[in-house]
Amino acid sequence: MPRNRIDKPSEGNFDSIFSYRAETIRSRFFTEIRDNKKIVVTKCPNCGMVGVPARSTCVKCFAGLKEFVEIGNTSTVTTYSVINTFREFYPLKPRFIFGMIHLDGADNGWVHMIGDVNPKDMKIGKVAKVKFIKIL
Ligand SMILES: [Zn+2]
Repeated sequence: MPRNRIDKPSEGNFDSIFSYRAETIRSRFFTEIRDNKKIVVTKCPNCGMVGVPARSTCVKCFAGLKEFVEIGNTSTVTTYSVINTFREFYPLKPRFIFGMIHLDGADNGWVHMIGDVNPKDMKIGKVAKVKFIKIL
């Protein structure tokens, strides 16, 4: 995909296009979601942190991670933002919500899209159930 070069940032406008290469641990995380509709993450053998998404190194103590655990399909919204402006790299057309969710069984939050809710009804502390949908 051709990219527009940004020579001079404009105030109040942030455009970003990036690519990402998942390593082995992260690939399993995405594969479990796609193929099995499960959220499988890593648990640290040193400090016990269950981190979302799965990763090869613990963000808390830097230990290597290889143990996978399945966590719950419900979460609590800890913060959110209603997106009203279109950006080409968004997977959905506005109006939608990006939020920090805390999945049951995890020790950290995860930024994700939140759907099936009227933005007027969104609030911090709301319980959100995971719904697996194909968007791309
Ligand atoms: Zn750790």
